[in-house]
Amino acid sequence: MTLTRYFSPLITQSATKKISQSALHQSVQYLKGVGPKRSEILGKLGIHTIRDMLLYFPRDYKDRTRIQKISEVKTGAEITLQGKVIGVQTRMARSRKSILEVFVGDETGTIAATWFNQPFLKNKFHIGDTVFLHGKAGAYKYLQLLSPEYEIIQEDEIDVKKGSIVPVYPLTEHMSQTHFRKIMKEAVYQFAGHVEELLPKEIVSKNQLVSVNDAVGNIHFPETFERLKNARCRLVYEELFILELAMALRRRGIKEEAGISFKIGINVDTHIRNLIPFTLTKAQERVIHEIKDDMRSNKPMNRLLQGDVGSGKTVVAIYAVLAAIANGYQTAFMAPTEILAKQHFLTIQRYLEHSHVRVRLLTGDSNSRQKKDDLDQIKAGQVDLVVGTHAIIEEIVQFKQLGLVVIDEQHKFGVVQRLKLKKKGGCPDVLIMTATPIPRTLSLTLFGDLDVSILDEMPPGRSPVKTIWVMKDREKDAYDFIKGEIAKGRQAFMVYPLIDESEAFDLKSAVTEAKRLQRDVFPTLRVGLLHGQMKPAEKDRIMTDFKEKRYDILVSTVIIEVGIDIPNATVMVIVHAERFGLSQLHQLRGRIGRGSEQSYCMLFGNPTSYVSSERLKIMTRTSDGFKIAEMDFRLRGPGEFFGTRQHGLPELKISDLMKDFPILKKARDDAFELVSQDPQLTINTHYKIRQRVLETFKDRLELMNV
Ligand code: ADP
Ligand code: MG
Repeated sequence: MTLTRYFSPLITQSATKKISQSALHQSVQYLKGVGPKRSEILGKLGIHTIRDMLLYFPRDYKDRTRIQKISEVKTGAEITLQGKVIGVQTRMARSRKSILEVFVGDETGTIAATWFNQPFLKNKFHIGDTVFLHGKAGAYKYLQLLSPEYEIIQEDEIDVKKGSIVPVYPLTEHMSQTHFRKIMKEAVYQFAGHVEELLPKEIVSKNQLVSVNDAVGNIHFPETFERLKNARCRLVYEELFILELAMALRRRGIKEEAGISFKIGINVDTHIRNLIPFTLTKAQERVIHEIKDDMRSNKPMNRLLQGDVGSGKTVVAIYAVLAAIANGYQTAFMAPTEILAKQHFLTIQRYLEHSHVRVRLLTGDSNSRQKKDDLDQIKAGQVDLVVGTHAIIEEIVQFKQLGLVVIDEQHKFGVVQRLKLKKKGGCPDVLIMTATPIPRTLSLTLFGDLDVSILDEMPPGRSPVKTIWVMKDREKDAYDFIKGEIAKGRQAFMVYPLIDESEAFDLKSAVTEAKRLQRDVFPTLRVGLLHGQMKPAEKDRIMTDFKEKRYDILVSTVIIEVGIDIPNATVMVIVHAERFGLSQLHQLRGRIGRGSEQSYCMLFGNPTSYVSSERLKIMTRTSDGFKIAEMDFRLRGPGEFFGTRQHGLPELKISDLMKDFPILKKARDDAFELVSQDPQLTINTHYKIRQRVLETFKDRLELMNV
C-alpha cells in the first residue's frame, strides 16, 4: 500500500467531520507527540499553529521508491534497502575508535551497517526491528554500509514506508527528521483536508492545478514524483499568485491616482535636444519615447530605468526633468550618497549651462544659512530642480509644485521612502534609475508595480574593459603594469573591502595598505586614500584632487562603488576580490572604461570556495551587466541578491524565482487579470484571497490602497 492511498481516504473521512477552519489555527501542541518542549523547538522554526506546520515544506526528498535486495548490492553504489536487525555488536578498532555494527538481513542476504565512535547509537537498534538504510555500499570483511542514514520503522508503518518518497525538512539539531516527519504525518493525517481552497475555480482549472488539499498532502508525503511535481506546482502558483496580486493592487493604487498630463510638443523636444551635446543612442531614444508617453498620460508615471553603468541614464533623466520644468513644475533628483548627489549636480549644471533652469544642491552638510534660503526658495517655487540625497525626503523640504522625481539607485531606497517622496507633491511622476541590472525574474517580482525601460546599448566609442584575475604570485607584475599606465598619464583605483584591520578577517585594510603602497611599491607616485569614515568635506576634497590629477592612485574602500566619473582612470584593482559579490564587482569595474583609452580591471583574489572562484571567472568572461546579474542571482539566490526586507520582496516559502519563472508569468497574468475585473477584491468569492494578500503583506499595507 502506498502513502497517499493511506492518507486520502482519511483526509476525506475527517473532512466530513467538519472541523472548522479555526482548527488550523490551533497550537501545534494539539498534535500528538508535541509537548511544551517540542512546541518551543517548533516555535523557533516559525511553526506555531497547525497551519504553520502544514505549510512548512520539505527542502528535499529521499527516493525510497526503489528498494534494493541485499543480494543485488554492488560495492561503491548508493543504495537503499529495508530489512530486519539480526545482530548488534560494538568492538574496538586498533585506532581505539569504537565500531558499532548492526547486521541487517532481508530475504536475500545480510549486510552490516557500521558507525565509528557513536556507541550511543547501539541502544537504538533492537533485534527484530525493521530498518531503512541508505548509504554507500562497501566491502571490508563483509558487505557494509558506512554510517548510513537510517530509520527504524514502527510496526504499523512498515507497509506504508516501503517504496515511498521521504521528505527531508530544514531542521535544527534539536529536532530529528524522523520525529518531525512523525509530527507532520499526524498534522497531514488530521488536517490536510481542512486547508481551504483559496483560488477561484476558473484559475484552478485553467492552470490544471491540483486541489490545495491534494497539494498539501503530496508535498509532504508524495505517492509518486508525478504527484509531488503537481503538488509543488500548485503551491508555487498560489504563492506567486498572492505576491503578484499585491503587485497588481499596488500598481492599480498608483495608477488610480490622478497624475499630471505634461505637454511635450515639438518645441519642448527641440529645446531639450539643443542642450544635449551628442546624438542619443537608439536605446536612449526608445526609452525617452516611453517616458514621454508616461508623462503625457494623466496617470502617474512609475517607471524603472535599468541600464548598465555608463549606458547614459543620466541624460535620459535630464530629458524628463527638463520636460517637467518646461511645463512649469518643480523636479527632484535623488542620489544615494552625498558624493553622487554632488556629481549629478555638477553634471546637470554642465548640461544646463545655457538654460534658465534654477538648480539647487541639497545635502546633509549644506550650511544652515544657505540651506534655509534654499528651502524657502523651493517652497516659493523659485527653484526648478533640487538635487540631493535622502535629505530631500525629510519633512522640512516643501515644494510648491513637485511634478517629477528622479531616484538614482532605487534599491538603496526603500518602498516607504518612495511613498514619502510622493507625498511631497500631489502625485508626481516617478522615474527610478538603477545601474544594477536586475534579472527579469526579479524585476517582475520586486518591481512588479513598475513599468520597466531598459538601456541596452552603450554610447559609441567605448572599448570594453579588459578584466584579468591576478593570483598572489603575480601581484608584482600587476604593480609594474600600473606603473606603466601611470607613466602614460593615466590613473588607477585600488579598492579594499575593509577600512581597518580586523582580527576576525585577515584583510588588508585600505588605511594600512595605502601607507605600504606609497612606501614600498609606488614611492615615486602620489597615493591618495579615501574611506567611509571620513567627513563628507574630506571625501570631497580627495575626490576632487584625484579628478584633477593630484593623485596617481586612489586607494579606497567600496565607497567609490557608485557613480564616480573619472574618465582618465584606466585601471581598477580590486583587492580581495573574492570577498565581493558579482554585482558589486561589476559596479566597481564600471568606474573605469569611461574614456576613450583601453581600461583594465585587475581582480586580486585567491578564492577558497567554488562560488567565489566562479564569480571571478564570470567577471573575466563577460561585461554584460544583465548576464552578470542573472549569474549572481543563480549563485546567491534571491534572498541575498538584495537584502530582502528592504526591497519589499517577501520571503518565498516554496518558489524559486529562477526555476519557476514560467509559473510566475502565468500567476502574474492571472493576478493582473483578476484585479482588473475586481479592483478591490470585494466579490464574495475573492474575499479569502483578499484576506490572504493582506495577511502576507501586512507590513506594507499602507502601500496598497486596499
Ligand atoms: P549612467 O548614468 O548610465 O552610468 P551616464 O549618463 O553617466 O551613464 O553616461 C556615461 C557617459 O556617457 C557620460 O559621460 C555621458 O556624457 C556619455 N553619454 C551618454 N549618452 C551618450 C551618447 N548618446 N553619446 C555619447 N556619449 C554619451
Ligand atoms: Mg503623467
